[in-house]
Amino acid sequence: ILDLSKIEAGKLNITYEPVILNVLTQEILEIFAHKAKQKNLVLSANIPANFPPAILFDEVRLRQILFNVVGNAIKFTDSGGVTFTVTSHQPENSSDTINLELAISDTGIGIEAAQKERIFDAFIQSDGQSTRKYGGTGLGLAITKRLTEILGGTVTVESTPGKGSTFSFSFPGVKIANGITTSVGSIDVDVNLDQLQPATNLVVDDVQFNLDLIAGYFAHSQHRVILASSGRLGINLAIIHQPDVILLDLWMPELDGIETAKLLQQNPQTSQIPIIVITASTRPSDEAAVAELGCAFLRKPVTKGQLLQELKKLLPLAETSRDRQLNQPRSPILAVSSPETLSTGE
Ligand code: ADP
Repeated sequence: ILDLSKIEAGKLNITYEPVILNVLTQEILEIFAHKAKQKNLVLSANIPANFPPAILFDEVRLRQILFNVVGNAIKFTDSGGVTFTVTSHQPENSSDTINLELAISDTGIGIEAAQKERIFDAFIQSDGQSTRKYGGTGLGLAITKRLTEILGGTVTVESTPGKGSTFSFSFPGVKIANGITTSVGSIDVDVNLDQLQPATNLVVDDVQFNLDLIAGYFAHSQHRVILASSGRLGINLAIIHQPDVILLDLWMPELDGIETAKLLQQNPQTSQIPIIVITASTRPSDEAAVAELGCAFLRKPVTKGQLLQELKKLLPLAETSRDRQLNQPRSPILAVSSPETLSTGE
């Protein structure tokens, strides 16, 4: 809601920076890999081999758009799959721009013709849709459409009820980030979390979406992830599993991040575990409170690259990747713990 009102008020800052679409796509696929696997869906992406290495775009906003639309595609699809396709055309009169087309196709429930325009309005979901089954707020596509327009693009949807939908985005005149790829360098490109020694990471957040995001970053890595949906549960799981690092949300009901961190630090069984506080807060007072506790700080939305950079400060690096391939299985052990499954977390 905050995002939407910021956009409506024209207060959203757009930042153009080099974006490596291959890396961003990989991140999106990893985020949703777990969910797709649970639903037995095939999740795939097509990017042409000759696509420019980097484009100048707002990475945070593009990630938000793809996150919403790919998330919906998976949510509203029960069999088949979701495909993300990138195409680009070079306009005749310009060598340093492309017309960028993105399409997200699913084989899901589809959208009735009468609903096709309405779904982009705030708080609108398809008529007759089960709130219990699909949840949601009806805000994702409203935000998606506004962000697309701010970025100079358009979004359309084609759909056949019962067969599936395709959301298509068109961004004309996107600048190619020539020669910038190398300076973007290893920080953003090498987002392989397996360059760290295998670790147990406890993620504490009351919002499932945020837990999914971080769990998605760790999917297909050799790390172990334990998820907790409250501060209290997080403390219990930290005592039981002795994680190598705790990723802690700041704003949570009952026990918030600061209180949870204090309790963890006061308890001799958990006091030595490093904590990274993750928050959407932009209040300097929150950042100061976190600094006072001696915890690291990451702002939402956290990219995989940022997460890796923080983890690198806390966790030892793995042996060479060759040794690792020989010695370690690559499949993750994902222990998802909710209050109901506390006792089966291990
Ligand atoms: P939410 O997903 O939170 O309900 P959105 O604004 O993202 O809100 O989507 C609005 C509505 O559009 C959804 O509730 C659903 O009815 C419809 N919709 C969006 N994406 C799809 C899709 N891929 N397949 C079928 N219906 C969709």
